[in-house]
Amino acid sequence: MPSAPLQDDRYAAPPARALGDQPVSTLLVTGIAELVTNDPAHPDAEPAEGLGTITDAAVVVADGAVRWVGRAVDAQPADRALDLGGRALLPGFVDSHSHLVFAGDRSAEFAARMTGQRYDGGGIATTVAATAEASDDDLRDLLAARVGELRAQGTTTIEVKSGYALTVEGEARLLRLARELTTETTYLGAHVVPPQFSGRRTEYVDLVCGEMLDACAPYARWVDVFCEPHSPHAFTEDEARAVLAAGIARGLLPRVHGNQLGPGPGVRLAVELGAASVDHCTYLSDADLDALAGSDTVATLLPGVEFSTRSPYPDARRLLDAGVRVAIATDCNPGTCYSTSMPFMVALAVREMGLSPAHAVRAATLGGAQALRREDIGRVVVGARADLTVLDAPSHRHLAYRAGVPLARALDLG
Ligand SMILES: [Zn+2]
Repeated sequence: MPSAPLQDDRYAAPPARALGDQPVSTLLVTGIAELVTNDPAHPDAEPAEGLGTITDAAVVVADGAVRWVGRAVDAQPADRALDLGGRALLPGFVDSHSHLVFAGDRSAEFAARMTGQRYDGGGIATTVAATAEASDDDLRDLLAARVGELRAQGTTTIEVKSGYALTVEGEARLLRLARELTTETTYLGAHVVPPQFSGRRTEYVDLVCGEMLDACAPYARWVDVFCEPHSPHAFTEDEARAVLAAGIARGLLPRVHGNQLGPGPGVRLAVELGAASVDHCTYLSDADLDALAGSDTVATLLPGVEFSTRSPYPDARRLLDAGVRVAIATDCNPGTCYSTSMPFMVALAVREMGLSPAHAVRAATLGGAQALRREDIGRVVVGARADLTVLDAPSHRHLAYRAGVPLARALDLG
């Protein structure tokens, strides 16, 4: 686990750095009507629903990290001050599932689907072709624009997968570009079986587990697979196990796309292999719930996918009641959810998945951090990264209550 800051300066809020022998500059943030800490054990926090909110709060930040958290009346002066004027302050959103590196769009496919055409995952070939035609700089420009979007909506950590090249050199290129903006990079050569391997699935799985993995592993932290028996383009349980085992053997950490289009083996496999997260979880059996509840594997829900594919939403309340750890993420991708907006996902999770506003915010912050096995983000506690998101509203409840209104933005501490 790297302990240094994990995003480059284009992405992370610039920390206050010590210059020469001068001491580190401290910043006191006040005017926080409601601080969401995700630390219900804090002595000033309301424990309700696990958010650990503190009213009329203050935070001291120095050198990119949180140094003090409490009530404003108890705060000591700092070198600099920032008054938020009665706004809510949250841990930055942690978007633990995205496919951000791609070219082209599939708005026509979306429009067709909205008129009744069924989605089966085959449209990825369109994106693979457009991405292959794009230069590295084209893709960098597209990435920068998307990172600008998500940061403007309060996201401070992003996971990025490959999966739109499906060749040895192409997958490595996508991961190399993703690594320029985050260390949360995921090798997803097993996104779909490409058409040129039709009838030769085993050869493609061997490539993903061999030469492609060798080329990609230096740029990846995670290995992922689209394990979905309901799509002919995706991977069976045995194929998925082989892909994940090969990645684990190369030092990558597993995560799984599973149980999206129907009941399946994805959750069971993820728990079996100790995956950090199994993502989608749209169709879960009671046995799946029991397996998740007894594990460290997070169920990451992707409500934007159900929205964009007009599919039934999973019941997130059922997961929480079973004791499962829940995250929500965007799955930002050109086919099934081209949205970078975590506030939109929070609103959908509340309206369509049965989460309370508090539980949805917790899933979008702490849940995402847990899905990435990160202790330094997702909470406002002493020692955590100073990744903070401010709302133009007095409470986290406004994120779902005022859906579609641009309330959230990552706080610039420069
Ligand atoms: Zn995905």
